[in-house]
Amino acid sequence: MSEESFLVVTELRAGYGGAQVLHGLSFAVRRGEVCAILGANGAGKSTLLRALCGMVRPRGAVRLDCADLTGRAPEAMARLGVAHVPEGRGTFTPLTVEENLRLGGYRHRRRADVEAGLRRVFGYFPVLEDKLREQAGSLSGGQQQMLAIGRALMLTPRLLLLDEPSLGLSPLVTQELFRIVRTINEEEGTTVIVVEQNAHLALENAHQAHVLETGRIVLSGSAAEIKADEQVARSYLGYR
Ligand code: ATP
Repeated sequence: MSEESFLVVTELRAGYGGAQVLHGLSFAVRRGEVCAILGANGAGKSTLLRALCGMVRPRGAVRLDCADLTGRAPEAMARLGVAHVPEGRGTFTPLTVEENLRLGGYRHRRRADVEAGLRRVFGYFPVLEDKLREQAGSLSGGQQQMLAIGRALMLTPRLLLLDEPSLGLSPLVTQELFRIVRTINEEEGTTVIVVEQNAHLALENAHQAHVLETGRIVLSGSAAEIKADEQVARSYLGYR
């Protein structure tokens, strides 16, 4: 594995009860890169993110910046800088936008850090400042996704895990979301792993990509290589 690798995953296995879903995944993500995880429904993409943030207990090894994180609980992962935005967003719909964001900043001890976090989030998502006192449940799908990402940003994560940010959103809104994620990646150096059904859009915005099939990586490469290979695009990604 390269010296620059920030996240190193080795022979990762995980599942639910007796059912194994991930069958020994090995890959590395360089610091500051966006890595796309592609593949059909049920391939194990969400399970991979859950294993990386501690929601599902994996076997194998997960190392972040040389620290062994294998099997740590979600709270410990959050403390170490891993933020997970789950599929379906997971915002607290009866609470206001502001309450959701402040909850995201729960680990900050100083009020000034919470306020600085809010200002950073509003810089990326100005609409959240306009809707501060509104219930999260009253926002559009795209705004709720922005809120979910904004909440994750409140703790200035080093590794941001995004599960299907495009789910249920129009192509225009999805494109705008990806543009903002790229800006966050570039401005803050946040390493991002994004699971996405929209392979074309994900490859447009990622540095590297892995394709999962029934819990195994069947293809890895730079996003540009994968995008350029028509055979690959047809076989694995369902387009062209
Ligand atoms: P999708 O895009 O449909 O979410 P995915 O690639 O993210 O697909 P996973 O959600 O990781 O795939 O699911 C992989 C397998 O694990 C599937 O067979 C699914 O039924 C199973 N699975 C997912 N979540 C659970 C759970 N909480 N309990 C038991 N089995 C689960």
